[in-house]
Amino acid sequence: MAIDWKILGAPGADNSLLVTVDSGHASSRLLFDCGEGCLNSLKPSEIQSIKHLFFSHYHMDHVSGFDTFFRHNYNRPEIPVQVWGPRGSIELLSNRFRSFTWNLHADQPGEWIVRETEKDSVQGARFFTREAFTSVHHLPTVLIESGAILSEQEFSVTYLSLPHHNIDSSAYLVRENDRINVSTQALASSGLIPGPWLQHLTDSSPDRDFVEVNGKSLAIGELRHDLLQTSPGLSLAYLTDFCIEPNTRDWSEVVEWIGGTNTLICECQYAASDASLAKRNGHMTADRVGQLANEAGVDTLVLQHLSRRYNEVEWAKMKDEAENQFQGATFPPNWDICAPVC
Ligand SMILES: [Zn+2]
Ligand SMILES: [Zn+2]
Repeated sequence: MAIDWKILGAPGADNSLLVTVDSGHASSRLLFDCGEGCLNSLKPSEIQSIKHLFFSHYHMDHVSGFDTFFRHNYNRPEIPVQVWGPRGSIELLSNRFRSFTWNLHADQPGEWIVRETEKDSVQGARFFTREAFTSVHHLPTVLIESGAILSEQEFSVTYLSLPHHNIDSSAYLVRENDRINVSTQALASSGLIPGPWLQHLTDSSPDRDFVEVNGKSLAIGELRHDLLQTSPGLSLAYLTDFCIEPNTRDWSEVVEWIGGTNTLICECQYAASDASLAKRNGHMTADRVGQLANEAGVDTLVLQHLSRRYNEVEWAKMKDEAENQFQGATFPPNWDICAPVC
């Protein structure tokens, strides 16, 4: 199992995040935001395989690339395109879908499900290409249980609404479900000879069934109890376009929410010296992002969504500012930002 990710778009330009959750049996591709040009590095087949598109908010730099996404997926057969975003997403995307001339659509496949989150509930609506997206088919309101807006077989996604100037920006946390596998240590000390019977411990075989091991008939339930171990899955958080300050309720809530996350992918718009500007525009500074990662105890902090007001040397200094607070701060590996010494 793995969570692979890639920041799309260059430093100082619009950025998006592409995530692939790979369970070993199946993989799910998720896209977070859709800035201008961000999909240019992907093949059409990759864009068409994105199952879920999550918007943090709808400022232009997060949605300008949506036409490309829509063009590749508007008539996708079989698997609906699912879009998630904050309050207002259904109306906003409905307008977007209908802002094209549709006259050859009647026999086209294509289903879009748009969901918007607000506090503890999710509103949803379906749209069909064959209807030229003219009808909004509202879905029943779903209450968010245990924080997850999306629960798949391999992973779940939770969201948290963050303040971004005078609007909300949705942050998302992807978490693999707990992994259950055979403990090699327990198997070795049991003296049982490994074989095809092991696969019954992790498949859907009932506990009461028996398997042949070492010439004996043993209950699957008992073998599971003795040999299986549970370990937590990996997690990744995406936080962009927000402003929170230490020692506030918002700050504590975010620290708790992302606590112990493996990978934190976070905006880093402003240098520490521009703290007042960052606050005025509803963004974070590099040092604050590092402090947040430190307090939350994440493993890795990836800095993205840098302001184009700075040059490359200044971006490298911003990474230093984050690193002074949190040692695991880094830029995406596909970015080539020169350090001040070079
Ligand atoms: Zn932005
Ligand atoms: Zn914004």
